Order: sequence, then structure tokens, then C-alpha cells
Amino acid sequence: MSLPENAAAADAEYDVAVVGAGIAGLTAATTLAATGRRVVVLEKSRGVGGRMATRRVGEAVCDHGAQQFSVTGRAFGNLVTAAETAGVVDSWCQLFPTAATAAGPVTAPLDEAGHARWRGTRGMTSLPKYLVAALPTPVRTQTRVEAISIDAGRVRLTDEQGQHVVAAAAIVTAPVPQALDLFTAGGLTPPLVDEATWETLAAIRYEPCFSLMLVLKRPSLLPAPGGLAVNSGPVAWLTDNQQKGISSVPSLTIQARGDFSRDHFDDDPEEVTGQLIDLARPWIDGDPAAVVVASSLQRWKFAFPENPLKAPLVALSQQPPIVCCGDSFGGGLVEAAASSGLAVARWLERLPG
Ligand SMILES: Cc1cc2nc3c(=O)[nH]c(=O)nc-3n(C[C@H](O)[C@H](O)[C@H](O)COP(=O)(O)OP(=O)(O)OC[C@H]3O[C@@H](n4cnc5c(N)ncnc54)[C@H](O)[C@@H]3O)c2cc1C
Repeated sequence: MSLPENAAAADAEYDVAVVGAGIAGLTAATTLAATGRRVVVLEKSRGVGGRMATRRVGEAVCDHGAQQFSVTGRAFGNLVTAAETAGVVDSWCQLFPTAATAAGPVTAPLDEAGHARWRGTRGMTSLPKYLVAALPTPVRTQTRVEAISIDAGRVRLTDEQGQHVVAAAAIVTAPVPQALDLFTAGGLTPPLVDEATWETLAAIRYEPCFSLMLVLKRPSLLPAPGGLAVNSGPVAWLTDNQQKGISSVPSLTIQARGDFSRDHFDDDPEEVTGQLIDLARPWIDGDPAAVVVASSLQRWKFAFPENPLKAPLVALSQQPPIVCCGDSFGGGLVEAAASSGLAVARWLERLPG
């Protein structure tokens, strides 16, 4: 699978164009680049990592997307082992404590029930940044793809500036509803593409999630190791970013459950911030009015796929190949997304040239 020798030299031409520099796009891109493919990664944000997201709030460093990840499969395991050797990720714990509600009580994890839960050593973006360093060409950040079309047997990706990238194949890792918007804008809808494939993609739904980052005057009261899963109520998860080892100053990340996030998605951010602080009150050492020195609320519209497919990828078009992958393909979460990216790279490598 490569561009024909005599391909017209219009626009920028590549073997593979990847939409999105999250973990799926980067595992696919680095695998393909390592086999000599000319790969370009287009990312709408200023930074890389997608939902593996780390941000500075005041003096604090906060993970505000994925908090940790598991490794069960061999392909992702090999990548994580190499990243661990490079000092990019390490094992955070075997299993987190859980609380019945955000107010407790806390149940300590059973020793024998765990497997390693991994963290980035400088925040969750450490792993995506490590992958970017292995790419021969930089990720094109702040490049929002607006349409994907087929032109003379190749894939054409048009960004918001009206610039085009032409490639023999495309990998699309944007959350699926956003991917379908790009195909629609490029005219790639049924009957031009298979109706059943389109319907399969259109059925994928996502849960939203609020992620509130707080900078605190004093360390939080969260138990070791600084991550707490909450079984019921509006709060789903809490992280102490200082205990986690990524923030030099006390900081909490509070993540809301999907139904709360959906019900309040368009509410005034200050009201949502106040509600989440009240709910996390048992873990803040003192009056929040005095102890919370800064806050930042992130709204993730497409946080978790509700009904991910079992398949690691779906090809919207075989010729030229246009493939969707990411955490909606293979079960949700970081490991599924990474494994899906690795699978799509193998799938493209097997296509006849
Ligand atoms: C709050 C939260 C908590 C989470 N907690 C965990 C956890 O603890 N453990 C776990 O395993 N998983 C967790 N997850 C899920 C995990 O983060 C995701 O499953 C995984 O990171 C998805 O990776 P991806 O590459 O498929 O997608 P993404 O990371 O979303 O990457 C897609 C990329 O495409 C870019 N993009 C989109 N549209 C365009 C466009 N038009 N042009 C250019 N670029 C575009 C986006 O900016 C993004 O960078 C969490 C997610 C959230 C939001």
C-alpha cells in the first residue's frame, strides 16, 4: 500500500494520513512510520494525547482525561514495557480503593484481586509524547480536518484553512460522531459507501464527563495511593495528583458520572464547579472557600463510548482505504484505543501495494 510512482504532485502527498494524535492515532502512525511509510498526523488541538490529557493549573499539574490504564494484551504490553524502560510510564498500584459514595465509606482493595494500573511519570500525556518523539515528521497540531473525500482513487483531507493533504490511505481516530461529520462533509455517505457499515458507525454513542481540577492549599485527605473509584452518586472518580507523583503542589481531579455530566452539561460552569466541590468536601482538608486556591472545569462531550464495537477497526472504504479506529473499537478505554491503532497499522501493512 503506497502511492503510485507517478502520482500527481498536487498538495502534500503521503502513504497514510492519520486524523488525531491521541493514543490510537499515535500507535498507528509510529508503527507505520517504522516500516518506512510516509505518514502525516493531523491534530486539531495545540498538544498531543487527546483524552490522555495533562494540564497545568496554577502551580499544579493535573491529569484531566484518563487517569490510569491497564495492560492485558501482548502488543500494547510490548509498547508499555519499552516506555517503562524509557522512564515514561510506571505502575501506580495493583488496585484502587473504592468508596460507596463520594462521602465514603472506603473499602480497601483486596491484595489478590489486582493487576498493574499504569500512570505516565509526568502525567498521562507522557506516553503520547514519547510516541511522537519516534515519528520522523512532527505532528501537525492546530490542524482541524473539516472534510474527507475520495479524489482520483486517493483520500483527500481538507482542513479549516482550505489546505489539502492527499494520501493513499486514511486512519480516522476522532470520536465516531465527529468522524461521520468529516465523511459527510466530503460526500462519503451511502450509497457511495456501504449503508450497513455507515449504520454500524452511526449507532456508536458516547457518555460525556466533567473533570474538575482543583489546586489546594493543603494536601487532600484521599487515602493512598491517591486514586479513589466511587460506586454511586454524581462523582465517579477522584485523584490526588500530588500523591500520584505528577504535581509538586496539592491538587485534586474530580470526575463526574455520565448521567450527572449529561444532565448538567450546559449549566453554568461555576455552578457545576460548586456542586462537585461540595460532593468532594470530605476529601478537602478544611473549608473549600479557604483551601481551594484555583479551579478549572473541563467538559468532555465524547468521554467514553457507551456501546463500543468488538472489532478493532471498521473500514468505511477499502479502496482507497479509509479506516476508523480508536477506543470505540475493541472495548473502550486506553488499552482498547492503543490496540486498535496497532491493529489498523497491521491491517494496512497487509494490503497489496
Ligand atoms: C475524563 C476521562 C477519564 C478517563 N479515564 C480513563 C481511565 O482512567 N482509564 C482508561 O483506560 N481510559 C480512560 N478514559 C478513556 C481514554 O482516555 C480513551 O479511551 C482514550 O484516550 C481514547 O484514545 P483515542 O486515541 O481513541 O481518542 P482521543 O484520545 O480522543 O484522540 C482523538 C484525537 O483526534 C483529534 N481530533 C478530533 N477531531 C479532529 C479533527 N477534525 N481534525 C484533527 N484532529 C481531530 C482530537 O483532538 C484527539 O486528539 C477516560 C476518558 C476521559 C475523557
